[in-house]
Amino acid sequence: MQLVETIDEMRHVVADARTKGQSIAFVPTMGALHEGHLTLVDEAKRVAEVVVMSVFVNPLQFSPTEDFARYPRTLDEDARLAADRGVNFLFTPTKEDIYPEHAPVVYVHPGTVGKEWEGAVRPHHFEGVLTVVAKLFHIVMPDVAVFGQKDLQQVAAVKAMVRDLNFPVGILVAPIVRDPDGMAMSSRNRYLSPKERELGTILSKALFAMRDAFMRGERRASALEAIGWRMLERVVGLTPRYLAVVNADTFQRVNTVHHGDAAVGAVRVSDDSA
Ligand code: AMP
Repeated sequence: MQLVETIDEMRHVVADARTKGQSIAFVPTMGALHEGHLTLVDEAKRVAEVVVMSVFVNPLQFSPTEDFARYPRTLDEDARLAADRGVNFLFTPTKEDIYPEHAPVVYVHPGTVGKEWEGAVRPHHFEGVLTVVAKLFHIVMPDVAVFGQKDLQQVAAVKAMVRDLNFPVGILVAPIVRDPDGMAMSSRNRYLSPKERELGTILSKALFAMRDAFMRGERRASALEAIGWRMLERVVGLTPRYLAVVNADTFQRVNTVHHGDAAVGAVRVSDDSA
């Protein structure tokens, strides 16, 4: 695996692969890699000859009150894991290289896809995501890019951007990788105390209960949401942020649920004893 630290070097690498007629799959990440990220690499290797992974903690997608400064940065370990999994090029640009003017003048706006749910609790988050993904697509020029279903609203926003702005990139979506207790793997899970982790798994349980009720034949979104909400309400240390059944492409709430729709949710957990 080759480490690529600058945009110029990345462009050379891509040009070289293109002259050899090789196809390129791209896996963008913020690092602190875990099995969830690495399954995206497996997917990328299945469809292309060259796999480029980026590790870039994108300041644009963090609000001032979020964890940009303390977001886990574990580049040596990331490089080892990526190499072992078969990544060919690990692109690790600096924020000065990506944002030489500190912040861009032009942003990519997600429109209605990014308005509700995660977009409502994290204003400007999806603008930051789409802007950096657009930049990375222009630098890496992949044939396909792989994203995780864990961040389903991000997937919808990226697909909408690719469609509406005519990016010549195919988008592949890989399933959520969960820990044995049911919680989706995430770089941020390392912030959680054992108690907070236990509280967090209640969200997974609520989402699974909604899915199970759908499988048993319930088609009313309001009934499915009520099942989930009942499990989240009145739990000490847990504050629900949102829980809904949505169309997975538009991220608009649905009334009648169909196969392919998604239950999405977020909770805040706190452990006063920690
Ligand atoms: P991040 O480093 O959190 O920005 O994530 C980079 C990519 O990995 C995104 O496409 C995520 O959706 C994906 N990803 C992160 N965690 C998981 C997981 N547990 N299962 C599947 N994909 C994941």
